[in-house]
Amino acid sequence: MRKLLLLALAVSCKSAPEPKVPAAETAPTAVPAATRMAEAQAPAPGIDLAILDRAVSPCDDFYRFACGKWLDQTPIPPDRALWGRSFSEILERNEVLLKGIVEKNARGEPDAADPFAQKVGDFYATCMDETKAETASLATLRENLKSIDAVADAKSLAREVGALQRGGARPFFNFYSRQDAKDATQVIGAVDQGGLGLPDRDYYFKDDKKAVELRALYVDHVGKMLELLGTPDAPAQAKKIMELETRLAKASMDRVSRRDPDKTYHRLDRKGLMAAAPKFEWSDYFAAVGAPEVQALNVSAPDFFKELDGVVTDYPAARTYLRFRAVEGAADTLGKAFVDERFRFTRALTGAKQILPRWKRCVTMTDRALGEALGRSFVTLTGGAESKAMAKEMITGIEKAFEANLATLDWMDEAAKKASLYKLHKIFNKVAYPEQWRDYSKLAVGKESLLANLQAAAAFETARDLAKIGKPVDRGEWRMTPPTVNAYYSSSLNEMVFPAGIMQLPFFSPEAPVPSNYGGLGMVMGHELTHGFDDQGRKFDGDGNLHEWWSPAVNKAFIERAECVAKQYDGYLAVDDVHLNGHLTLGENIGDIGGLKMMLSALRAREQQAGDTMGAARRDHVPRDVAGFNAEQQAFIAFGQVWCTNYRPEAARTQALTNPHSTGQWRVNGPVSDTPDFAKAFSCKAGSPMAPVNHCTVW
Ligand SMILES: [Zn+2]
Repeated sequence: MRKLLLLALAVSCKSAPEPKVPAAETAPTAVPAATRMAEAQAPAPGIDLAILDRAVSPCDDFYRFACGKWLDQTPIPPDRALWGRSFSEILERNEVLLKGIVEKNARGEPDAADPFAQKVGDFYATCMDETKAETASLATLRENLKSIDAVADAKSLAREVGALQRGGARPFFNFYSRQDAKDATQVIGAVDQGGLGLPDRDYYFKDDKKAVELRALYVDHVGKMLELLGTPDAPAQAKKIMELETRLAKASMDRVSRRDPDKTYHRLDRKGLMAAAPKFEWSDYFAAVGAPEVQALNVSAPDFFKELDGVVTDYPAARTYLRFRAVEGAADTLGKAFVDERFRFTRALTGAKQILPRWKRCVTMTDRALGEALGRSFVTLTGGAESKAMAKEMITGIEKAFEANLATLDWMDEAAKKASLYKLHKIFNKVAYPEQWRDYSKLAVGKESLLANLQAAAAFETARDLAKIGKPVDRGEWRMTPPTVNAYYSSSLNEMVFPAGIMQLPFFSPEAPVPSNYGGLGMVMGHELTHGFDDQGRKFDGDGNLHEWWSPAVNKAFIERAECVAKQYDGYLAVDDVHLNGHLTLGENIGDIGGLKMMLSALRAREQQAGDTMGAARRDHVPRDVAGFNAEQQAFIAFGQVWCTNYRPEAARTQALTNPHSTGQWRVNGPVSDTPDFAKAFSCKAGSPMAPVNHCTVW
């Protein structure tokens, strides 16, 4: 179970939280060069006064106050679903940096920091060659299709599903390694629901107008992809695929249920899995995917596998479905007709007007395939021992703030406080980049077929992941590459991870005033830490094990407080008539509310330290207001400005329906209206929108 700071709007249906396999997703992009050149510059350190909307009171709408002019003046690039002041702009800068690295490698000037630079260069160069995509990648796919067409019985089907999954496609379900939720020292197998092409199970049977339109578009898209492969009777085949996926969707757990780790824990032995879905030849499947010895498995959604058992015996339907999954997964590596057709579908979910330029798609694919090779070059350009040391110091401050707060809670008994303290002290922190880099020497990268390269990278990653089953837990592993602009908390590992990508402006800089570093990166740290104690995280103890470690009375008190948050966010409108789902976003919102409180408390503790650096540039030991804003106000503004985001309506809708993260506006106004110290900092009248008389507090 891994909690992110932000989940980028992904349009492929990857329900597995664990393996990082290069999956084909049409990332949006294309660069209207003139507007973007300016944005490729990092912003100046500190809060941005020029984007404040001073016509709006911070007590009425803080998001608008902090971001107003930015929101009005910043168009969404035509190739993006949304555009945010921090995540999107850092991503854009990183893409330019990474492009410089991969192009140099591709020219035969391999970066000295990366022993696999030649592979990185070859991967990127092959990706950039559109002519080869039209021919060589398609030839690779044709080979895959031949073996799919030979599926005629249970054994050949299971083998084919295993082979496709090994190469990064995702038919029917997902399989990966994970720690046993109830015994975190053991790594077992995990099978989970999957195999859908729409972003969520609910899209298959909701009957509102948008859902009906989207289904029609999807069936049309499936038909077009099959037609491009020369499949006879493609429209009729597409309908069959839709029927098959609808059966899988109906048997799938919904997103809110899946957030409850007690509901997704069903450990079975190998025989138990075979009994649950006896018509699927599991042994052939495990051999083909590369985990022949797996004995213990978690089956997240048992009903799904019962239904799957009824689906897999119709071999003609399964063949058509596998054909589609294979081509859909490969679409980004193929010729223009395939790429354009997939974009025609995904744009309905993202609203993007243009596809991303090829180089950006290729940088992303290279990062997914060889992220810890490319990352080595990236951190030599961006990294800094100073940033890393400062970030670690900030984490310590945030943890101390959580500890001090814990002592004040009246709804927790002493036993729960003690156990929570144990958990807090056991949190492991990873900052910037791994100590031990991944060894890619066994990954072969060719120069002809991008699809073959992508499948080789996926097979490498699948093998690496499945090899962990039955072995001791590897605590050194990172599940994000260094350039990633994100962060995560893992319940089973009880660890927080902050890649170098997020340790940049506007989140953080060694040169930035302390309050803005706290409002940016400090808040992110508080958010991740609070995930360890949100409605999911709190079910795992300090050793990463899922069990009841609080008394029933403390559980009840927690749930009451969490329900307050769920109700609050249920009331927020994301777009048109679509509200946020308070239970889907609950963990993230608890993280935001707790994170803001911890950030502020850590900032205050810092203020009291000798050599006060509040409100001043770090090396300037004079406390200083900025344009009349004191240190706390600056920290709140810095926090608000991290989330300035413009959404296309399609993207806001998709996010509200499928993403556990609230939209930007509510990631700001939600937490500040639950923070009495915010009202104090801005002298808000009790009862004003950002200072409600009743508010929610969990931590
Ligand atoms: Zn989060």
